[in-house]
Amino acid sequence: MQTIEEILKIKKVNNTAIRTVVLRHLLSQEKAQSLKDIENVLVHTDRSSIFRTLKTFEKNKVIHSIEDGSGMLKYAVCAKGCNCDPKDLHYHFYCNNCNKTFCLFDIPVQNIELPDNFKIQQANMVVKGLCNNCNK
Ligand SMILES: [Zn+2]
Ligand SMILES: [Zn+2]
Ligand SMILES: [Zn+2]
Repeated sequence: MQTIEEILKIKKVNNTAIRTVVLRHLLSQEKAQSLKDIENVLVHTDRSSIFRTLKTFEKNKVIHSIEDGSGMLKYAVCAKGCNCDPKDLHYHFYCNNCNKTFCLFDIPVQNIELPDNFKIQQANMVVKGLCNNCNK
């Protein structure tokens, strides 16, 4: 397991106090986090700083965002070698009951063949249903 310092270094992000705190929080969660989720935990940090941190992380591929249809963008750490390249595309799972969103890194998406001159920039690949906790 890489340390926060190592992850930031590999992804070429300068280490600052807020970045460390936000990344530590994201790493501690098994589900993807919305800005609101993070705000609720880091109550002493202002919203715009958290938002800027997330955008920096996203740009440097420390995290990726997921539109799961809940209306709130969620963020997940790029684990398991995800560099947000098309080959790293994986399915996401959204639980209709508890509204949690998970990265299914072990379920890669088949190469998406686009028509000529189309370029992929993002794919959410959200599967919806009940998570293992809600499906008891
Ligand atoms: Zn990623
Ligand atoms: Zn659930
Ligand atoms: Zn993901």
